[in-house]
Amino acid sequence: MPANAPDKNAAPPLPEPLRVPVADSHTHLDMQSGTVEEALAKAASVGVTTVVQVGCDLNGSRWAADTAAAHDAVHATVALHPNEAPRIVHGDPDGWSRQGARAAGGDAALDEALAEIDRLAALPHVKGVGETGLDYFRTGPEGKEAQERSFRAHIEIAKRHGKTLVIHDRDAHADVLRVLKEEGAPERTVFHCYSGDAGMAEICAAAGYYMSFAGNVTFKNAQNLRDALAVAPLELVLVETDAPFLTPVPYRGRPGAPYLVPVTVRAMAAVRGIDEDTMATALGANTARAFGY
Ligand SMILES: [Zn+2]
Ligand SMILES: [Zn+2]
Repeated sequence: MPANAPDKNAAPPLPEPLRVPVADSHTHLDMQSGTVEEALAKAASVGVTTVVQVGCDLNGSRWAADTAAAHDAVHATVALHPNEAPRIVHGDPDGWSRQGARAAGGDAALDEALAEIDRLAALPHVKGVGETGLDYFRTGPEGKEAQERSFRAHIEIAKRHGKTLVIHDRDAHADVLRVLKEEGAPERTVFHCYSGDAGMAEICAAAGYYMSFAGNVTFKNAQNLRDALAVAPLELVLVETDAPFLTPVPYRGRPGAPYLVPVTVRAMAAVRGIDEDTMATALGANTARAFGY
């Protein structure tokens, strides 16, 4: 590597600060390097003053709730990720983290884990239930049943507690929309890392679902996402990092963090043909409304 080439594992530089503060509507601070305090300070220094910390399993959901209780700038969501639910049912010991319920497996283990999510969802710093949904990319046909059962249970928990539902939808658009319709979606529903096309954006808009765009909206091969962003009602659009994943261009492949939100906000403003401040104003207000804080 030439001496002046950027290290692909190095943290990208701080972007120019936003003039209007926004929130990172979906991040995983527990999967990023450094402390929570460092991540929040760095984000705030460029105008990202709020983050939504998303839980993916029991330990991660407990951590999200605790972190939100300790920091005003952090709101939590709690859930078993769509790829986690089948692992609990099948008793897979190589899950994301080892937890008591997993060893036994079976539907009872999933019910036990869901009961803990239900308990966490009642906490005041927990603003949402998710990420839940369907993922046909990482989970094969053998996991479909557990995944859908878990998704339906999360919808019920979100509605009962009056919390926002955060959807993870990977290669499962039609089934996610079907289950939402069958169960009846909560009042506030967010499609995190929105991955549908413009046609699906119209369906989401009609249903009042929020669409949260991640760094992949900047990827060269993601014209379908930009087309969706172009037609989505501005009041239903959110921005997120999903960090450490999906770091926006020109830092694609390097470690992501909430402080990189301005890069995505600027790309989104360009897609919409509006100025950065107008985009940021809408994003800030939308995220607060979507998560009820
Ligand atoms: Zn996700
Ligand atoms: Zn996520």
